[in-house]
This record gives sequence, structure tokens and C-alpha cells, in this order.
Amino acid sequence: MDDDDDDDDDDDNHHQIYFNPIIAHPPVVNIRFVCRQCPPQAVVAIVPADGFQCPVNQNHILCQCCVQPMPDRRDEADIHQHCEICKQFFCNIYFQQCSRVGCLGCLNHLRDFNFSHHHLTNFVNDNPVESQIVQDYLTNNNKTIRDLLIECCDRLDRNEFTCPGIDPNAAVPSSKVVCYKCGLKMFKELAYQFRVHMKQDDVFPVIMRNRDNCYYGRKCRTQYTKIGHAQKLNHACEQTKF
Ligand SMILES: [Zn+2]
Ligand SMILES: [Zn+2]
Ligand SMILES: [Zn+2]
Ligand SMILES: [Zn+2]
Ligand SMILES: [Zn+2]
Repeated sequence: MDDDDDDDDDDDNHHQIYFNPIIAHPPVVNIRFVCRQCPPQAVVAIVPADGFQCPVNQNHILCQCCVQPMPDRRDEADIHQHCEICKQFFCNIYFQQCSRVGCLGCLNHLRDFNFSHHHLTNFVNDNPVESQIVQDYLTNNNKTIRDLLIECCDRLDRNEFTCPGIDPNAAVPSSKVVCYKCGLKMFKELAYQFRVHMKQDDVFPVIMRNRDNCYYGRKCRTQYTKIGHAQKLNHACEQTKF
């Protein structure tokens, strides 16, 4: 038997609760969350390699994908817990994998994403014709969408491509930490630039080569409503008529 008197003393327990510093002085509301790194869970749970364990007054933030808490360590170097564009919190890098079933990687370095083909319909500026030209190029060269992302990221890092929200002077621009949604938007912008820079010899079918540019370029609204127009004119170009 355990001889520790205090454990069995109702009165002491009462005082323990009463003087609990958390209850007496609630610091921040969200310390009420218990995460994978809160003791005692942290002892049995799979924790990141740094073996971090939440102190008693740990502030937590909620992953916007799985809605599970994680300790707020955003002020520490090399800890990635939020999208650098939209600022929302995600646990996919911090816990190495987000716990939501079907999560496609809610937070990643841009070049590490694996975008679902469900989200890549008309991925070049929503224009089905220009998208098909890039898709056919990939198919003809035995490349995947993932290969295209890597190629685009390499060209981003060489400052051949640019991307809104990414500092071209960053050490490695494609290592930007972004959420799936912001990353997908960036990839689509890069894929558009890839289409712009394609050699005419790589464009199939041949009839699609050397088409005249639409004056309204990528901003053209007719490209979305009249397929004949989208086929006849190139829309992988900037607007020249306003
Ligand atoms: Zn915790
Ligand atoms: Zn985002
Ligand atoms: Zn998560
Ligand atoms: Zn997730
Ligand atoms: Zn047009």
C-alpha cells in the first residue's frame, strides 16, 4: 500500500485545487487544451524528435485542418506551425503528419507538396486549352504534376519565375512554408509561367503552335465562355489591350 498520507486527505486535495495557479490566475484561455506533447500523453505518444514536453502553462494553438491542439512554439527557430501567407495554423510539419484522415499535407514547404489531381482541373489560369497543352507536354515526356512542381520550384529558385508572396531574394524561395490552399494557388501561378515559357516545338497539337495572342491575354474573360476563342488565340500572355 502507498503510505503517502496527503494523497488520501480530502482536505488537502481541496486546497490543492483551490491554490492551483492555473485556476487562480488563468493566463490564456487556450491552455485548457491538451495536446500530444502534454504530459502524461507525451510519454506514450509519438513526439517529434526534439522530445518537447508542454510545461503546465503551455499556450496551445489549433490546427485548422484536424482541429487538434499543438504547443504554440512559433517564436522558436525552425519550428513551422503556420502558413506564411494566410497565417492560419496547421500541424502537418510540426507533428510530421497531420492527424485528419484524408489530409493532403495541410502545411508544407512549397516544393514538398503533392497536390491532388482533383484540385488541378484547368490548372493553367483556369483555361482548359492552355492547361491541356501543359498536360500533354507532361504526358509526352513521361513527367508527372509533381515533376512539374519541382521544375517550377527550381526555376523559381533561379529567379526565372516569380511568385506573389515569395521574396525572390530569399535564400531558397521554394522552401516557403505555406498551407495547401496557398501552395496550390502558387503552383498554379508557376504552372502558368511554365506554359508561357514553353518552346513552340513542345506545344501539341501542332495547330496550337504560333497562335496569335489574345489582346486581353491571361485576363480575357471570353477564354472561359467560348472554347473556340480559347483554342484560336493564345492566352498564356499578358494583357496588351485595356
Ligand atoms: Zn500540449
Ligand atoms: Zn495559407
Ligand atoms: Zn492537423
Ligand atoms: Zn491536415
Ligand atoms: Zn481572349
